[in-house]
Amino acid sequence: MIVVMEITASEDQIQHVSTRIHELGLKSHIIRGTERTVIAAIGDDRKIKIESFESSSGVSEVLPILAPYKVASRELKPEPTQIQVLKFRAGAGAVGMIAGPCSVESEEQIVECARAVQKAGGTALRGGAFKPRTSPYSFQGMKEDGLKLLATARQETGLAIFTEVMSPEDVDLVSKYADVLQIGARNMQNYRLLEAVGRSPRAVLLKRGPSATIEEWLLAAEYILNEGNPNVMLCERGIRTFESHTRFTLPLASVPYLHRKTHLPVIVDPSHGTGHSYLVTDMAMASVAAGADGLIVEMHPNPEKAASDGYQSLDFSQFNDMMQQCRKIADALGKQFG
Ligand code: PEP
Ligand code: MN
Repeated sequence: MIVVMEITASEDQIQHVSTRIHELGLKSHIIRGTERTVIAAIGDDRKIKIESFESSSGVSEVLPILAPYKVASRELKPEPTQIQVLKFRAGAGAVGMIAGPCSVESEEQIVECARAVQKAGGTALRGGAFKPRTSPYSFQGMKEDGLKLLATARQETGLAIFTEVMSPEDVDLVSKYADVLQIGARNMQNYRLLEAVGRSPRAVLLKRGPSATIEEWLLAAEYILNEGNPNVMLCERGIRTFESHTRFTLPLASVPYLHRKTHLPVIVDPSHGTGHSYLVTDMAMASVAAGADGLIVEMHPNPEKAASDGYQSLDFSQFNDMMQQCRKIADALGKQFG
Protein backbone atom coordinates (compact mmCIF):
# COMPACT_ATOMS: atom_id res chain seq x y z
CA MET A 1 0.00 0.00 0.00
CA ILE A 2 0.96 3.65 -0.34
CA VAL A 3 0.82 6.12 2.52
CA VAL A 4 0.38 9.56 0.98
CA MET A 5 1.66 12.26 3.31
CA GLU A 6 0.17 15.77 3.60
CA ILE A 7 2.04 18.44 1.63
CA THR A 8 2.91 20.02 4.98
CA ALA A 9 4.08 16.75 6.65
CA SER A 10 7.24 17.16 8.72
CA GLU A 11 10.34 14.95 8.51
CA ASP A 12 9.47 13.55 11.97
CA GLN A 13 6.01 12.52 10.78
CA ILE A 14 7.50 10.86 7.69
CA GLN A 15 10.04 8.95 9.79
CA HIS A 16 7.34 7.94 12.27
CA VAL A 17 5.23 6.34 9.51
CA SER A 18 8.31 4.64 8.07
CA THR A 19 9.20 3.19 11.49
CA ARG A 20 5.65 1.88 11.99
CA ILE A 21 5.82 0.16 8.60
CA HIS A 22 9.04 -1.59 9.68
CA GLU A 23 7.50 -2.59 13.01
CA LEU A 24 4.74 -4.36 11.08
CA GLY A 25 7.35 -6.45 9.26
CA LEU A 26 7.12 -4.59 5.93
CA LYS A 27 9.74 -2.70 3.92
CA SER A 28 9.28 1.03 3.55
CA HIS A 29 10.40 3.06 0.54
CA ILE A 30 10.19 6.82 0.97
CA ILE A 31 9.60 8.61 -2.33
CA ARG A 32 9.98 12.36 -2.22
CA GLY A 33 8.03 13.89 -5.10
CA THR A 34 8.07 17.50 -6.20
CA GLU A 35 4.78 18.16 -4.33
CA ARG A 36 4.50 15.60 -1.58
CA THR A 37 6.13 12.56 -0.06
CA VAL A 38 4.63 9.10 -0.33
CA ILE A 39 5.77 6.05 1.58
CA ALA A 40 5.33 2.61 0.12
CA ALA A 41 4.78 -0.28 2.50
CA ILE A 42 5.92 -3.36 0.65
CA GLY A 43 5.50 -6.97 1.66
CA ASP A 44 2.66 -9.20 2.72
CA ASP A 45 0.17 -6.61 3.97
CA ARG A 46 -2.92 -8.82 3.89
CA LYS A 47 -3.31 -8.80 7.68
CA ILE A 48 -2.56 -5.10 8.14
CA LYS A 49 -5.41 -2.69 8.54
CA ILE A 50 -5.10 0.32 6.26
CA GLU A 51 -7.03 2.46 8.74
CA SER A 52 -4.29 2.04 11.31
CA PHE A 53 -2.11 4.39 9.22
CA GLU A 54 -4.85 6.86 8.41
CA SER A 55 -4.85 8.07 12.00
CA SER A 56 -1.11 8.89 12.09
CA SER A 57 -0.39 12.60 12.03
CA GLY A 58 0.77 14.05 8.72
CA VAL A 59 -0.96 11.29 6.72
CA SER A 60 -3.32 12.42 3.95
CA GLU A 61 -4.57 9.05 2.69
CA VAL A 62 -3.67 5.38 2.39
CA LEU A 63 -4.17 3.59 -0.92
CA PRO A 64 -3.63 0.05 -2.11
CA ILE A 65 -1.17 -0.44 -5.02
CA LEU A 66 -3.16 -2.39 -7.57
CA ALA A 67 -0.30 -3.37 -9.89
CA PRO A 68 1.49 -6.62 -8.93
CA TYR A 69 4.80 -4.75 -9.15
CA LYS A 70 4.87 -2.05 -6.50
CA VAL A 71 8.02 0.11 -6.35
CA ALA A 72 8.25 0.09 -10.17
CA SER A 73 4.67 1.31 -10.61
CA ARG A 74 3.45 4.74 -11.67
CA GLU A 75 0.82 4.46 -8.95
CA LEU A 76 3.60 4.81 -6.42
CA LYS A 77 5.65 7.44 -8.27
CA PRO A 78 3.78 9.48 -10.88
CA GLU A 79 6.87 11.45 -11.98
CA PRO A 80 9.33 9.77 -14.36
CA THR A 81 12.67 8.73 -12.89
CA GLN A 82 15.87 10.10 -14.39
CA ILE A 83 18.99 8.03 -13.98
CA GLN A 84 22.33 9.77 -14.25
CA VAL A 85 25.71 8.03 -14.34
CA LEU A 86 28.69 10.31 -15.08
CA LYS A 87 27.47 12.33 -18.10
CA PHE A 88 24.91 9.71 -19.17
CA ARG A 89 21.29 10.64 -18.42
CA ALA A 90 18.11 8.71 -19.23
CA GLY A 91 14.49 9.54 -18.48
CA ALA A 92 12.42 12.64 -17.74
CA GLY A 93 13.35 14.44 -20.96
CA ALA A 94 16.82 12.97 -21.46
CA VAL A 95 17.64 10.42 -24.18
CA GLY A 96 20.89 8.66 -23.22
CA MET A 97 23.11 7.16 -25.93
CA ILE A 98 25.02 3.95 -25.22
CA ALA A 99 27.09 2.39 -28.01
CA GLY A 100 30.00 0.05 -28.48
CA PRO A 101 30.91 -3.42 -29.64
CA CYS A 102 29.03 -6.57 -28.70
CA SER A 103 32.26 -7.95 -27.12
CA VAL A 104 35.42 -6.30 -25.87
CA GLU A 105 38.19 -7.73 -28.08
CA SER A 106 41.33 -5.64 -27.53
CA GLU A 107 42.49 -2.34 -26.07
CA GLU A 108 42.77 -0.80 -29.50
CA GLN A 109 39.25 -1.90 -30.49
CA ILE A 110 37.50 -0.69 -27.33
CA VAL A 111 39.36 2.62 -27.08
CA GLU A 112 38.72 3.31 -30.77
CA CYS A 113 34.99 2.60 -30.23
CA ALA A 114 34.91 4.82 -27.13
CA ARG A 115 36.48 7.72 -29.07
CA ALA A 116 33.92 7.26 -31.88
CA VAL A 117 31.03 7.29 -29.38
CA GLN A 118 32.37 10.41 -27.70
CA LYS A 119 32.98 12.18 -31.01
CA ALA A 120 29.42 11.48 -32.16
CA GLY A 121 28.03 12.92 -28.90
CA GLY A 122 27.22 9.71 -26.97
CA THR A 123 27.80 9.48 -23.22
CA ALA A 124 28.13 5.75 -22.55
CA LEU A 125 30.16 2.82 -23.86
CA ARG A 126 28.86 -0.74 -24.02
CA GLY A 127 31.00 -3.85 -24.40
CA GLY A 128 30.58 -7.41 -23.19
CA ALA A 129 33.37 -9.00 -21.15
CA PHE A 130 31.24 -11.92 -19.94
CA LYS A 131 29.29 -13.12 -22.98
CA PRO A 132 26.19 -15.32 -22.78
CA ARG A 133 26.56 -17.32 -26.01
CA THR A 134 24.05 -19.77 -27.41
CA SER A 135 26.86 -22.25 -28.12
CA PRO A 136 29.54 -23.21 -25.57
CA TYR A 137 32.02 -23.25 -28.48
CA SER A 138 31.51 -19.55 -29.33
CA PHE A 139 33.76 -16.78 -27.95
CA GLN A 140 32.86 -16.39 -24.25
CA GLY A 141 34.39 -12.94 -23.69
CA MET A 142 37.65 -11.63 -22.21
CA LYS A 143 36.24 -11.70 -18.67
CA GLU A 144 38.28 -9.65 -16.14
CA ASP A 145 40.83 -8.64 -18.79
CA GLY A 146 37.92 -7.21 -20.79
CA LEU A 147 36.64 -5.32 -17.75
CA LYS A 148 40.09 -3.75 -17.31
CA LEU A 149 40.06 -2.59 -20.94
CA LEU A 150 36.62 -1.03 -20.42
CA ALA A 151 38.03 0.87 -17.42
CA THR A 152 40.91 2.07 -19.64
CA ALA A 153 38.38 3.32 -22.22
CA ARG A 154 36.52 5.21 -19.47
CA GLN A 155 39.77 6.79 -18.36
CA GLU A 156 40.49 7.92 -21.92
CA THR A 157 37.03 9.35 -22.64
CA GLY A 158 34.96 9.78 -19.46
CA LEU A 159 32.15 7.65 -20.93
CA ALA A 160 29.99 5.62 -18.51
CA ILE A 161 30.63 1.87 -18.86
CA PHE A 162 27.74 -0.58 -19.40
CA THR A 163 28.66 -4.26 -19.26
CA GLU A 164 26.91 -7.54 -18.57
CA VAL A 165 27.12 -9.56 -15.38
CA MET A 166 26.03 -13.17 -15.74
CA SER A 167 26.15 -14.65 -12.26
CA PRO A 168 25.71 -13.53 -8.63
CA GLU A 169 29.35 -14.47 -7.82
CA ASP A 170 30.61 -11.97 -10.42
CA VAL A 171 28.58 -8.95 -9.24
CA ASP A 172 31.35 -7.55 -6.99
CA LEU A 173 34.02 -8.04 -9.65
CA VAL A 174 31.98 -6.41 -12.43
CA SER A 175 30.87 -3.59 -10.08
CA LYS A 176 34.56 -2.79 -9.49
CA TYR A 177 34.99 -1.75 -13.14
CA ALA A 178 31.52 -0.96 -14.53
CA ASP A 179 29.22 1.99 -13.98
CA VAL A 180 26.06 0.15 -15.04
CA LEU A 181 25.44 -3.59 -14.69
CA GLN A 182 23.63 -5.13 -17.64
CA ILE A 183 21.36 -8.09 -17.00
CA GLY A 184 21.11 -9.97 -20.27
CA ALA A 185 17.89 -11.18 -21.83
CA ARG A 186 18.68 -14.80 -20.95
CA ASN A 187 19.03 -13.87 -17.28
CA MET A 188 15.96 -11.68 -16.84
CA GLN A 189 14.37 -14.25 -14.56
CA ASN A 190 17.53 -15.33 -12.73
CA TYR A 191 16.13 -14.15 -9.43
CA ARG A 192 19.26 -14.70 -7.31
CA LEU A 193 21.20 -12.56 -9.82
CA LEU A 194 18.51 -9.86 -9.70
CA GLU A 195 18.73 -9.80 -5.89
CA ALA A 196 22.52 -9.60 -6.05
CA VAL A 197 22.52 -6.55 -8.37
CA GLY A 198 19.77 -5.10 -6.17
CA ARG A 199 22.34 -4.98 -3.36
CA SER A 200 25.02 -3.39 -5.57
CA PRO A 201 25.61 0.38 -5.57
CA ARG A 202 25.68 0.36 -9.40
CA ALA A 203 22.75 1.25 -11.67
CA VAL A 204 21.23 -1.66 -13.60
CA LEU A 205 20.08 -2.11 -17.21
CA LEU A 206 17.52 -4.93 -17.21
CA LYS A 207 16.99 -6.45 -20.63
CA ARG A 208 13.68 -8.03 -21.52
CA GLY A 209 13.63 -11.81 -21.75
CA PRO A 210 12.83 -12.88 -25.35
CA SER A 211 9.71 -14.67 -24.15
CA ALA A 212 8.80 -12.54 -21.14
CA THR A 213 5.58 -10.59 -20.87
CA ILE A 214 5.80 -6.95 -19.80
CA GLU A 215 4.35 -7.88 -16.42
CA GLU A 216 7.02 -10.56 -15.86
CA TRP A 217 9.67 -8.02 -16.89
CA LEU A 218 8.37 -5.41 -14.43
CA LEU A 219 8.25 -8.02 -11.67
CA ALA A 220 11.90 -8.83 -12.47
CA ALA A 221 12.70 -5.10 -12.06
CA GLU A 222 10.81 -5.25 -8.76
CA TYR A 223 13.28 -7.87 -7.45
CA ILE A 224 16.10 -5.34 -7.93
CA LEU A 225 14.17 -2.39 -6.51
CA ASN A 226 13.01 -4.45 -3.55
CA GLU A 227 16.63 -4.98 -2.49
CA GLY A 228 17.03 -1.20 -2.24
CA ASN A 229 18.62 -0.31 -5.60
CA PRO A 230 16.42 2.44 -7.12
CA ASN A 231 18.48 2.89 -10.30
CA VAL A 232 16.91 0.44 -12.72
CA MET A 233 16.48 1.00 -16.48
CA LEU A 234 14.42 -1.34 -18.65
CA CYS A 235 15.75 -2.36 -22.05
CA GLU A 236 13.43 -3.54 -24.83
CA ARG A 237 15.57 -5.78 -27.05
CA GLY A 238 12.94 -7.70 -28.95
CA ILE A 239 10.97 -10.87 -28.36
CA ARG A 240 10.70 -14.21 -30.07
CA THR A 241 7.76 -14.58 -32.45
CA PHE A 242 6.89 -16.71 -35.49
CA GLU A 243 8.50 -14.04 -37.69
CA SER A 244 11.95 -14.89 -39.01
CA HIS A 245 12.92 -11.94 -41.26
CA THR A 246 14.44 -10.24 -38.22
CA ARG A 247 16.46 -11.94 -35.46
CA PHE A 248 13.81 -10.91 -32.92
CA THR A 249 10.63 -8.85 -33.22
CA LEU A 250 11.07 -5.36 -31.77
CA PRO A 251 7.73 -4.26 -30.27
CA LEU A 252 8.03 -0.50 -29.95
CA ALA A 253 4.54 -0.14 -28.46
CA SER A 254 6.13 -1.42 -25.27
CA VAL A 255 7.84 1.99 -24.89
CA PRO A 256 4.70 4.14 -24.46
CA TYR A 257 2.96 1.24 -22.69
CA LEU A 258 5.76 1.02 -20.12
CA HIS A 259 5.64 4.78 -19.65
CA ARG A 260 2.03 4.41 -18.53
CA LYS A 261 2.84 1.62 -16.11
CA THR A 262 6.23 2.55 -14.67
CA HIS A 263 8.33 5.60 -13.84
CA LEU A 264 11.56 3.75 -14.78
CA PRO A 265 13.46 4.84 -17.92
CA VAL A 266 13.00 2.69 -21.03
CA ILE A 267 15.99 2.07 -23.31
CA VAL A 268 15.68 0.36 -26.72
CA ASP A 269 18.25 -1.97 -28.32
CA PRO A 270 17.62 -1.87 -32.08
CA SER A 271 20.69 -4.05 -32.75
CA HIS A 272 19.49 -7.26 -31.06
CA GLY A 273 15.91 -6.19 -31.81
CA THR A 274 16.46 -6.50 -35.57
CA GLY A 275 19.66 -8.51 -36.08
CA HIS A 276 20.51 -6.61 -39.27
CA SER A 277 22.77 -3.55 -39.36
CA TYR A 278 20.75 -2.07 -42.25
CA LEU A 279 17.62 -1.92 -40.05
CA VAL A 280 19.26 -0.38 -36.99
CA THR A 281 19.19 3.34 -37.89
CA ASP A 282 15.51 3.38 -38.86
CA MET A 283 14.48 1.48 -35.74
CA ALA A 284 16.68 3.71 -33.57
CA MET A 285 14.86 6.76 -34.98
CA ALA A 286 11.48 5.07 -34.47
CA SER A 287 12.44 4.29 -30.87
CA VAL A 288 13.26 7.91 -30.07
CA ALA A 289 10.01 8.97 -31.78
CA ALA A 290 8.09 6.44 -29.62
CA GLY A 291 9.49 8.12 -26.51
CA ALA A 292 12.50 5.95 -25.64
CA ASP A 293 14.68 7.37 -22.87
CA GLY A 294 17.80 5.96 -24.46
CA LEU A 295 19.31 3.63 -27.04
CA ILE A 296 21.93 0.90 -26.76
CA VAL A 297 23.53 0.19 -30.13
CA GLU A 298 26.24 -2.19 -31.29
CA MET A 299 29.04 -0.68 -33.37
CA HIS A 300 32.50 -1.90 -34.36
CA PRO A 301 35.54 -0.49 -36.18
CA ASN A 302 35.23 -3.37 -38.65
CA PRO A 303 31.89 -5.24 -38.26
CA GLU A 304 32.99 -7.97 -40.67
CA LYS A 305 35.74 -8.98 -38.28
CA ALA A 306 33.74 -8.69 -35.03
CA ALA A 307 34.07 -11.62 -32.60
CA SER A 308 30.29 -11.57 -32.07
CA ASP A 309 27.18 -9.96 -33.59
CA GLY A 310 29.06 -8.27 -36.47
CA TYR A 311 26.04 -8.65 -38.80
CA GLN A 312 24.02 -6.29 -36.61
CA SER A 313 26.84 -3.84 -35.78
CA LEU A 314 27.17 -0.40 -37.39
CA ASP A 315 30.51 0.85 -38.62
CA PHE A 316 31.63 4.29 -37.41
CA SER A 317 30.22 6.19 -40.35
CA GLN A 318 26.81 4.45 -40.11
CA PHE A 319 26.85 5.13 -36.38
CA ASN A 320 27.55 8.82 -36.94
CA ASP A 321 24.69 9.02 -39.38
CA MET A 322 22.36 7.28 -36.91
CA MET A 323 23.34 9.76 -34.18
CA GLN A 324 22.57 12.74 -36.41
CA GLN A 325 19.17 11.37 -37.42
CA CYS A 326 18.18 10.51 -33.86
CA ARG A 327 19.33 13.88 -32.59
CA LYS A 328 16.93 15.60 -35.01
CA ILE A 329 14.03 13.60 -33.61
CA ALA A 330 15.03 14.23 -29.99
CA ASP A 331 15.34 17.97 -30.78
CA ALA A 332 11.88 17.98 -32.34
CA LEU A 333 10.51 16.41 -29.14
CA GLY A 334 12.34 18.99 -27.00
CA LYS A 335 14.52 16.34 -25.37
CA GLN A 336 18.14 16.42 -24.37
CA PHE A 337 20.13 13.92 -26.48
CA GLY A 338 23.48 12.29 -25.96
C1 PEP B 1 24.30 -8.05 -25.74
O1 PEP B 1 23.92 -6.94 -25.36
O2 PEP B 1 25.35 -8.24 -26.42
C2 PEP B 1 23.43 -9.22 -25.48
C3 PEP B 1 23.92 -10.44 -25.32
O3 PEP B 1 22.13 -8.89 -25.45
P1 PEP B 1 20.83 -9.74 -25.01
O4 PEP B 1 21.06 -10.14 -23.60
O5 PEP B 1 19.72 -8.74 -25.17
O6 PEP B 1 20.73 -10.90 -25.97
MN1 MN C 1 25.46 -8.66 -28.93
